[in-house]
Amino acid sequence: MDELLRRSEKLTTVGQLAAGVAHEIRNPLTTLRGFLQLQRENNRLSPLHNEIMLSELDRINLIVSEFLILAKPQATQFQVKSIRNILNDVISLLDSQAHLFGIEFKFEFEQENFKVHCEENQMKQVFINIIKNSIEAMEDGGVIRIELFRLNPEEIGITITDQGIGIPSHIMPKLGEPFFTSKENGTGLGLMISQGIIEGHKGMMEIFSKPGQGTRVDIILPLAGNAEQTKS
Ligand code: ADP
Ligand code: MG
Repeated sequence: MDELLRRSEKLTTVGQLAAGVAHEIRNPLTTLRGFLQLQRENNRLSPLHNEIMLSELDRINLIVSEFLILAKPQATQFQVKSIRNILNDVISLLDSQAHLFGIEFKFEFEQENFKVHCEENQMKQVFINIIKNSIEAMEDGGVIRIELFRLNPEEIGITITDQGIGIPSHIMPKLGEPFFTSKENGTGLGLMISQGIIEGHKGMMEIFSKPGQGTRVDIILPLAGNAEQTKS
């Protein structure tokens, strides 16, 4: 794995984000407006036009809902939770989708039931975002390995490793920029949101990738107790 990414300094300001959202929403709105004008002028909208309008509306909806996660008030409910249970929940949630693509999960965890001081839904959101990216990168199936282990007395490590298409090195610096996506139906918000949530939990997230071989996402989180001491 030759590429390393550390991006805490790259989290964008609210202003840049708002401009990005406006831009992303304006594009589909322009298409919708154009089609409606066509409809008014000659009353002819084909089924294809209809399809496009629906998918543009869906796109706006997706961008807005992903963005809302970011806008959630800071006063979230932090509780002491088992990280293994959280990972198990996410894996069962995504299992049937993964199965469709011939993907198998391998979850390896230590005996100790590590507890993390966290907002459970946000934490789930992070793992959903990362594992979904892995699924989307593995069209030909394979294994997604998820490991949970103690890193040192205060911290745990979680790694998610896929056997997908990988990320070209020139793209690595763009990851986590809002709206950077290489997918036709991507929003380019997942990694940025995840990065923000992990930082909100005083953790760290790094991405390593080798094109053609796969991608590994490493997450470090403070164990409960330590997190409470450092909580501001
Ligand atoms: P989206 O999934 O909507 O494109 P993300 O922020 O989740 O947005 O990811 C941004 C980009 O990072 C993706 O479009 C893809 O190019 C790249 N990427 C992220 N995770 C992976 C992965 N596991 N394998 C390959 N590429 C990835
Ligand atoms: Mg994604």
